[in-house]
Amino acid sequence: MKSPSLILTVYRTFSAVQSALASGTISCRQLVADYLTRIEEYQHLNVFTDVYADESLTRADAIDQKLMAGKAGRLAGMVIGIKDVLNYAGHGVRAGSLILDQFTAQFTATAVQRLLDEDAIIIGRQNCDEFAMGSSNENSAFGPVRNAADTSRVPGGSSGGSAVAVQAGLCLASIGSDTGGSVRQPAAFCGVVGLKPTYGRISRWGLIAYASSFDCIGPIANTVDDAALLLEVMAGPDEFDSTVSSRPVDAYSKAQLPDQAAVESRPLRIAYLSAGVESTGVDDSIREATQGRIDELRAMGHTVESIDLALLKYLLPTYYILTTAEASSNLSRFDGVRYGYRHTPSGDLLALYKKSRTEGFGAEVRRRILLGTFVLSASYYDAYYTKAQQVRRLIRQETERIFGQFDFLLSPTTPTTAFKLGEKKDDPLQMYLADIFTVLANVVGYPAISIPNGTDVDGLPIGLQLMAPPFEEGALVAMAKRLERER
Ligand code: GLN
Repeated sequence: MKSPSLILTVYRTFSAVQSALASGTISCRQLVADYLTRIEEYQHLNVFTDVYADESLTRADAIDQKLMAGKAGRLAGMVIGIKDVLNYAGHGVRAGSLILDQFTAQFTATAVQRLLDEDAIIIGRQNCDEFAMGSSNENSAFGPVRNAADTSRVPGGSSGGSAVAVQAGLCLASIGSDTGGSVRQPAAFCGVVGLKPTYGRISRWGLIAYASSFDCIGPIANTVDDAALLLEVMAGPDEFDSTVSSRPVDAYSKAQLPDQAAVESRPLRIAYLSAGVESTGVDDSIREATQGRIDELRAMGHTVESIDLALLKYLLPTYYILTTAEASSNLSRFDGVRYGYRHTPSGDLLALYKKSRTEGFGAEVRRRILLGTFVLSASYYDAYYTKAQQVRRLIRQETERIFGQFDFLLSPTTPTTAFKLGEKKDDPLQMYLADIFTVLANVVGYPAISIPNGTDVDGLPIGLQLMAPPFEEGALVAMAKRLERER
């Protein structure tokens, strides 16, 4: 017997959905119904923690009406999933944690509201690492997500559910969050596109905080065009987030690179991290695939040069000192009194806090709260926190120097392809290394994108990362589009 998915069309681009809607081949209702069938069929991947079945069908009907009346928004027919760290009024939100048990969002994140305002359909909430802490999606209280390319492997994290949803065709695009690589790294492991914008490009209002000076909301999609369109809709000033930029939002989805004649008169200057193609810590297949792209860019007439990041070895320590410090502060509000899970009172108030937090948070989150509290403690503050802030400034300066000479920085997105479930779970340092190429963009706040770059011998996806100077998302997506390959 044929499995149902064989008779369903899986749309991979928003333009294909739009043409099908325009020609009457499909309606929004049918589209949503098809996704619901697939979600059901792919339950073993453990992608969605909540599916808004009835609600999205009702919304699809309303959007079909709007389309008929010629009054639909720019995202009409775009079926999206959101990571379980984004608030959506009236819907549960749990950040992959038991501590937010039974919690319902009281308001809607600005980014999500903007998608709704343009008639996107939100089909459900996606599994992720607890409070977005992780690189494999194994830290979720709701169980791990599985990579659709090989279900014995992780999808990456922390936006693992969001990446697999796109990979497996369970929705057209997803919205994740990226504090150290959580949009790009799972996108690389799943063979899809993940875009982390400049810090402050998209309002963080309504995003459950992990490390506030690093957190960015970002889209995951099959194509650079779709990611660019989502960015364009979500970006821009917002009175609820004082760190958001008031710079005008460009039409990212229409960004173009200079044409060939212009390239000949002014080639683009592209740097690549030597470690990405030389280090033996990077899989051979990834080094070769990255080298292939470097050769291609040279053949196009661009200048491509290798650089070393002198401070590379300080990146992860700086990232983990600062993010755990910020996390310990952000997570102090989850005390068993104000939100979600509460230990059945059996002692004094202090015992209630302690027991609720011990039972409500998972092991990795507890580890990070402890680390963060330690680096912020009076006797160690200067040795760790202040020092890491200083190193963050030095890394910024070094990055500014690099971008004074180059338009883009290229590297693999990850040193390995998707690893096996359980392989790194008990070795946090190995797990943290999965983000070696992605954290730089968060430490300095620059935009970066991961695009598919072929597969290894086992058919596991490889990602290529491009980074651009702050607020150069237009140039970034234009370049990524040039390098994009059909899946
Ligand atoms: N894996 C990194 C961490 O665990 C990044 C997570 C993220 O970007 N949210 O902190």
